[in-house]
Amino acid sequence: MPPTHRTDAPRPTTVALIGAGLAGAACARALADAGFAVQIFDKSRGVGGRMATRRTEWTGPDGIAIPARFDHGAPAFEARSEAFIQFVEAAEREGLLARWVPVIDRDGQTGQATAPQWVPTPDAPSLCRSLLKDLPVKTGCTVDALRREPDGWVLESAGVLVAQGVDRVVVAIPPAQAAALLASHRPDWAERARAVEMVPCWTMMAVTDAPAADLPAWDLAEPAADPIGLIVRSDARPGRTRVPGRAHWVVHASDTWSRAHLEDPPADVLACLQDALAQKLGPPLAWHHAAVHRWRYAHAPAEATDAAVPELCDWDPARGLGACGDALGGAGVEGAWRSGRALADRLIEQHRQTRPA
Ligand SMILES: Cc1cc2nc3c(=O)[nH]c(=O)nc-3n(C[C@H](O)[C@H](O)[C@H](O)COP(=O)(O)OP(=O)(O)OC[C@H]3O[C@@H](n4cnc5c(N)ncnc54)[C@H](O)[C@@H]3O)c2cc1C
Repeated sequence: MPPTHRTDAPRPTTVALIGAGLAGAACARALADAGFAVQIFDKSRGVGGRMATRRTEWTGPDGIAIPARFDHGAPAFEARSEAFIQFVEAAEREGLLARWVPVIDRDGQTGQATAPQWVPTPDAPSLCRSLLKDLPVKTGCTVDALRREPDGWVLESAGVLVAQGVDRVVVAIPPAQAAALLASHRPDWAERARAVEMVPCWTMMAVTDAPAADLPAWDLAEPAADPIGLIVRSDARPGRTRVPGRAHWVVHASDTWSRAHLEDPPADVLACLQDALAQKLGPPLAWHHAAVHRWRYAHAPAEATDAAVPELCDWDPARGLGACGDALGGAGVEGAWRSGRALADRLIEQHRQTRPA
């Protein structure tokens, strides 16, 4: 008799993750490593979420198009918790993150940062891209309906079915967007998400001349007065190319100014931020390129750090539904990572407890 092969091996638990920012990517990686069959959906063209890079080009004096890249989301981040420090140091060894100790100008007082910041290299989404490598990611797919049917979860995008029969769903998107998907399953989570007032940020990306003598002696500046909250000398960060005679800037409007001017025409915002940067830098600037981007949901509010749910994520084992993201994990890049990992731990723990001996 020919040898028989077992065909009744249990199929892996399937998980659909909505959102491929750091929370979703960290969660997906940990679940995949633990044997879950994951599928990730993101509405953007690429992964990374608010760890974002804008590629553009401007026309040089001889009419030639010159490419430029701006990390117009998080320019860098800090690591505080032991687990996250271990993660970033491992990513540094893989060449995905570079340590940066910027010189900071705080309202005219210049000094070296006391804690290192971390810059993804070669671009901002690289960390998420690496976490998600080899995993099935469907980009350009906005999940706008989530239903529970007898054989599992169903996900839809613009009336089209994108996944069905899924065992678990992870919602890893900013709270206002998450609330819409969660409302009919966990109205309590949706209500809490709606109450989070995410902070917006108008962001300017610019290229100017930078004659060596006029260069500021800092990498980051935090002016005390509106409209600017933060100026990043973008090409001073590790892993970025500095072009002699030119400077690349990313300027974040302050929280209060961004809130007050959220609906202003982009051209007005651009003029205002250009003017403020020119004033801060002093000598007249030759502008080569300048554009703005409005982040409606840039940061979780500062209170999120204190008000993070103790578990750092939401998990409903009976429904097989979870939520993670910076607003649950305590704000910022670290909060997003901790939240995604915490949710993965919850799913893995439940799996261990319920699988047959
Ligand atoms: C201008 C700016 C500056 C910042 N500066 C810092 C800083 O200095 N330090 C710091 O620590 N943090 C900073 N942050 C915040 C940091 O970037 C975020 O906290 C973190 O990246 C959030 O990760 P996340 O995975 O929770 O969410 P996100 O990165 O927002 O990821 C969510 C993903 O879900 C996708 N999505 C949303 N809705 C749907 C849907 N319905 N269907 C499918 N996909 C969907 C989005 O496209 C996105 O890719 C900054 C952010 C901005 C914008």
